[in-house]
Amino acid sequence: MEQAVFESITYAAECGDCGAEVEWCGVQVLDDRSLRWDTEFGCTACGAAMFVCKGELPAELRGRLLAEHGPALLRVDPSARNAAVMRVLRAELGIGLDEVRTVLGGIRAGSHSGTLPEMELLARRLRAAGIDAVAERPQRS
Ligand SMILES: [Zn+2]
Repeated sequence: MEQAVFESITYAAECGDCGAEVEWCGVQVLDDRSLRWDTEFGCTACGAAMFVCKGELPAELRGRLLAEHGPALLRVDPSARNAAVMRVLRAELGIGLDEVRTVLGGIRAGSHSGTLPEMELLARRLRAAGIDAVAERPQRS
């Protein structure tokens, strides 16, 4: 089993009980099989606490994750066969042939990026298929 990879942010949203604005904590987690998005809060106004597992990560919060932590890049062995890489990408991302060509082009150009857990998931799937791949975050200067 590989190590879990995660990134978290805090953001303001309403308490589900009393409607007060409270600070939520959201975390995108890659466990050994899949990505998930968990959120939680504790309300200082009414004392309610909630933990929501395996929600959908909203695009706006994903944007915050990328802005706060910086995007990670997916690097794939340049000698890996396109067809083999594309097969893994299509299976994992559930996208069509045209889209997967675009993604592959981005990977080959070193510009395909996402959150670290997302890129790590793809890297693991590729490695499981025998293709050298790694997710990494460029050092910010
Ligand atoms: Zn409350």
